[in-house]
Amino acid sequence: MARHNGRGWYGRMIAAAVGVTAVAAATSVWTAQAGPSSGGTAAAPGASARHTAPTKVTVSPDIAHASDGGEHAVNITIDDGPDPVWTPQVLQVLRENGVKATFCMIGPQAQAHPDLVRQVVAAGHRLCDHTVSHDTTMDKKSEAYQSQQILDAEQQITKASGGVRPMYYRAPGGAFTPYSRRLAASHGMRPLGWNVDSKDFERPGTRTIVATVRGELSNGPTILFHDAGGERSQTVAALRILLPQLKQQGYSFGFPVR
Ligand SMILES: [Zn+2]
Repeated sequence: MARHNGRGWYGRMIAAAVGVTAVAAATSVWTAQAGPSSGGTAAAPGASARHTAPTKVTVSPDIAHASDGGEHAVNITIDDGPDPVWTPQVLQVLRENGVKATFCMIGPQAQAHPDLVRQVVAAGHRLCDHTVSHDTTMDKKSEAYQSQQILDAEQQITKASGGVRPMYYRAPGGAFTPYSRRLAASHGMRPLGWNVDSKDFERPGTRTIVATVRGELSNGPTILFHDAGGERSQTVAALRILLPQLKQQGYSFGFPVR
């Protein structure tokens, strides 16, 4: 995928890694802003009306980190796909270990690979909207732009899946805004954060990815991996080691809360 190649993409991912801290620090502020007194303006004219379906369930606009699997569960989240090379390999490792995960997809990639989106859904995994262009500076852009990025991807993913809607919205690099969180929530997509960045995107080596995850598990249950944006064999290998280890240690696998 051309837009994911080269330094621009890598640079954005570094920014994303740095952004994790900001997301964690800002969550409570944003939570406060998300209250009913926040004076929420309506969605950008046109954008929401164009995409509004009658059956949407509104969820909380707060950024979710917890697991619905209880205290000793982790949430495996897989971002930036689907990708014809790596998504099938990730699906296979998950299947071998009986683990369900959440796939945060880029709209045009879902559109290009509907077979993969349907495989993800058929295997019992959940879908998450990861926007159209993976713009990690979208929090600095207009509401109309944010709306287009989120709602067009929602539509592309839903069409590719055969009608199964994304249940979460994860901003690229954690670039949420109060507006984007409310918009996503009003479309039934719970804003989704993460607690543990495997840093698999930097390809530090399989053992380092495993060690990073194990070392940061105390941060919280939601773990970030990638199945696209470059060569992801280290991610696949790390999952192959980590999933059985986590199970042996008594962890179960859940979905992020909605
Ligand atoms: Zn991403």
